[in-house]
Amino acid sequence: MQNIPTQLLINGKFIKGEGAPMSVLNPATGAEITQVNEASQAQIEAAVKAAADAFSTWKKTTPSARATMLLALADAIDTNAKELAELESMNCGKPYQAALNDEMPAVADVFRFFAGAIRTMTGSLAGEYLPGHTSMIRRNPLGVVASIAPWNYPLMMAAWKLGPTLAAGNTVVLKPSEMTPLTTLKLAQLISDIFPKGVVNVLNGRGESVGAAMISQPQVKMISITGDISTGQKIMDVAAKSVKRTHLELGGKAPVIVFDDADLEAVVADVRTFGFYNAGQDCTAACRIYAGKKIYEKLVAELTSATASIKVGMQKEKGVEMGPLISARQRERVAGFVDRARAQKHIEITTGGKARTGQGFFYEPTIIAGAKQSDEIVCKEVFGPVVSVTRFDDEAQVVNWANESEYGLASSVWTSDVSRAMRVAAELQYGCTWINTHFMLTSEMPHGGMKRSGYGKDLSMYAIEDYSCVRHVMVKL
Ligand code: NAD
Repeated sequence: MQNIPTQLLINGKFIKGEGAPMSVLNPATGAEITQVNEASQAQIEAAVKAAADAFSTWKKTTPSARATMLLALADAIDTNAKELAELESMNCGKPYQAALNDEMPAVADVFRFFAGAIRTMTGSLAGEYLPGHTSMIRRNPLGVVASIAPWNYPLMMAAWKLGPTLAAGNTVVLKPSEMTPLTTLKLAQLISDIFPKGVVNVLNGRGESVGAAMISQPQVKMISITGDISTGQKIMDVAAKSVKRTHLELGGKAPVIVFDDADLEAVVADVRTFGFYNAGQDCTAACRIYAGKKIYEKLVAELTSATASIKVGMQKEKGVEMGPLISARQRERVAGFVDRARAQKHIEITTGGKARTGQGFFYEPTIIAGAKQSDEIVCKEVFGPVVSVTRFDDEAQVVNWANESEYGLASSVWTSDVSRAMRVAAELQYGCTWINTHFMLTSEMPHGGMKRSGYGKDLSMYAIEDYSCVRHVMVKL
């Protein structure tokens, strides 16, 4: 592929990073695609200064002006969808067709949604709550937002961070994961044709070097991160020192509660797709199945044969459904979870359970049956193509088990009894509960967690609320 983007965007200019070169790999082969240099300390400071300078005029733009630019960016994403999908699938190893047909339209839609949403924000009623005084509510942008994205959906996560932040009138310094910077650097090119200089700045580099330096800059007023729980904790430590606002989207371990009266065919089809989509490297992956006593055996048998039929392969192989993991390190981590599970007598690995030989970081789609509630494989996020199945006795037990988790991002309930579905959905401590489906996202609805999955909301009007501040203005009459 020609024209691999490698330059950072700082104050409207494309500049080579002055820090250490970082190797960017194709996970399907393990070969280097290119090198992208990290930003130096001086470049980090310049990017934050550029965003702070741009804020003084950007915050005064009208919602209509910002919406026009967001819509132009959505159009540019559509126009460049093939190139973006090519870069994303090469850099993440994911199937090209999925990147092109699932992710790119969703990325453009995020910008279109926020373009519309910011023009339709409404406020509470202005009124006289003290005699002789009129009170009203304003919502103001915060200033410079430092946004840090993970490697599983690099462009999508950039869109989730930029859309509401820019719509609300903030300026941004964005850092993609050092493993997957390519689509974000390409996005920077599209942005620089549309937005004023300094409104969006894009850096590259590791978390502990560039990320940490970015978020501790005094002019940064808010930090937004999608990543691991341990990373979220480090960010909170930094934010605590200067009392910065934070927006945390951390890990997940989605329970999939399947009652005996569920539509088994639909469960198997959805778990086959959404337990293994993006090679399971998804914080909402349908990875922790709880199956009722009567349905358990049949579910394990049918899910095992469905999972064994998933076509694993290279990005552009015909019919490919699943690619490799992001890195050799991630594959080792996933293999470690499966090997520790295998060592337990009550567990049966009914399909998969090993790395694929040959090039790339492939791991077979894996089903782990007979897992118990206290097992590591049930409690901890694997972030790979591994689904566990646990048998439960009754509704009260399964609700307790689902909620016992430290995570609280996504969950699903499968039953033909609507009352039970609603009862269980009301009890679950998860940011989202799907009923008789899993993994469905829409720009109008919030995505975000509870408990250690974090508390920031992405997508929807709630994201605009997160990236802005409610203020009270009072006039003495
Ligand atoms: P990670 O935490 O290792 O890295 C995420 C980002 O944080 C990267 O850009 C990294 O460079 C940066 N970072 C790391 N340490 C930092 C520090 N000390 N200071 C500043 N920045 C730092 O996560 P990852 O491995 O890239 O992504 C996988 C994780 O993300 C999984 O745990 C997954 O569940 C989570 N995730 C959550 C959601 C969600 O919506 N809740 C979505 C996608 C991924």
